[in-house]
Amino acid sequence: MPPSPPPSSSSPAAPYHERLGVSEESFDRLEEHLERRVHENLEYRHLSNRRSGIERGTVLIAGTVVRGFPKIPRTLVVSTGVPEHFHGPVAVEEKLNGYNVRLVRIDGDVLAFTRSGIVCPFTTRVVRRDLEAELEALFDEHPRAMVCGEMIGPENPYTAHEYPGVDSIAFRAFGWRDRERGTPLPVLERRERYESFGVAQTQYFGTDEPDAVADRLLDLVDELDAEGREGVVLQSRDGDRQLKYTTSAANRGDLAYAFSMPFEYGQEFVFRRLIREAFQAVEWGESEPEARERAHRLGDAILCSMIESIDAVAAGETVGDRHTVRAEPETIDALLEHLREQGLTLHIEQDRAENGERVVTFCKRSQSTNDKVRNYLDGQIVDV
Ligand code: ATP
Ligand code: MG
Repeated sequence: MPPSPPPSSSSPAAPYHERLGVSEESFDRLEEHLERRVHENLEYRHLSNRRSGIERGTVLIAGTVVRGFPKIPRTLVVSTGVPEHFHGPVAVEEKLNGYNVRLVRIDGDVLAFTRSGIVCPFTTRVVRRDLEAELEALFDEHPRAMVCGEMIGPENPYTAHEYPGVDSIAFRAFGWRDRERGTPLPVLERRERYESFGVAQTQYFGTDEPDAVADRLLDLVDELDAEGREGVVLQSRDGDRQLKYTTSAANRGDLAYAFSMPFEYGQEFVFRRLIREAFQAVEWGESEPEARERAHRLGDAILCSMIESIDAVAAGETVGDRHTVRAEPETIDALLEHLREQGLTLHIEQDRAENGERVVTFCKRSQSTNDKVRNYLDGQIVDV
């Protein structure tokens, strides 16, 4: 049995299974898969993989439920996929390349949860620092709100990507849900609310009928691609149905990243991205020279990043996922401790003070890639 929850603003003392909308028996089964964690003396449990219809990242904390952010399906072909998936007007917004966070206020404190439902002490501090007034006003008026968005920018400990006008790390809202039910606000209402609270949001490209959106999308994706942006997320007006589509630049970026650590990423990860490229080339009706150009860039992304990594190991350097972060010293400590707790081996490559902040460059060492590349360079025979 879960500990009896303290009264909450919604339905006082409702047990977790009721809040999740499942029977007591299925909650008992679910409980075995919940992982227990502590954030600053506050114990919580989270589901790191989707199970029995409950979203990945769902959290049970302080007697309340914080729903996971739903997985967004993808189409490989815009012209057929969009009309197939939507039967009414479709809102188009930019898909940002960063990491997913959900912000909620629990017992008076704003907490930032990652995709799998872990409180990230770094993100929590960053949003409290950068969005304190905005979030206080928002949660005062809407205590059950779950603010969903992406942390973007170059000084980012998980997924760093350059965006014009973002020099360090920044939050961009793309969803507003009821934290216990997970139901979204309609797109336009959500955008108006964020606007009124002064919270920055992802770009909005308008709402139209599915066929019209599909027609416009090829040009829009071309523009986003040229700017190195990730893609689009489409939603029904009520925010309930979602669909994503990504640019070739994003696919190449993912491949270059994965092949810089060729022995960490599953073959499925790379295979899926190659498939996306092939369908995009066909839908875009590319000429032979255009298709060759695409193939060339794809090959560069794959092979050049792998060669760079092998060169690095040969030169005695560490290969891995390298990030720079900038924040108050205490926030950096909390981040490094948090990452180490997740079992990561960190190499601190630079650590300096700048205007009272600490700027740290670290590398999350890729165990398999470093070890295997070293062994192969030393002549170990491959068994395939
Ligand atoms: P998942 O779909 O489970 O999150 P994934 O690794 O496949 O896993 P992505 O391919 O990045 O994720 O696509 C979904 C993610 O895109 C969302 O979880 C969210 O973090 C991010 N995202 C960025 N911009 C938007 C947006 N405008 N609307 C919705 N999601 C967005
Ligand atoms: Mg993403």
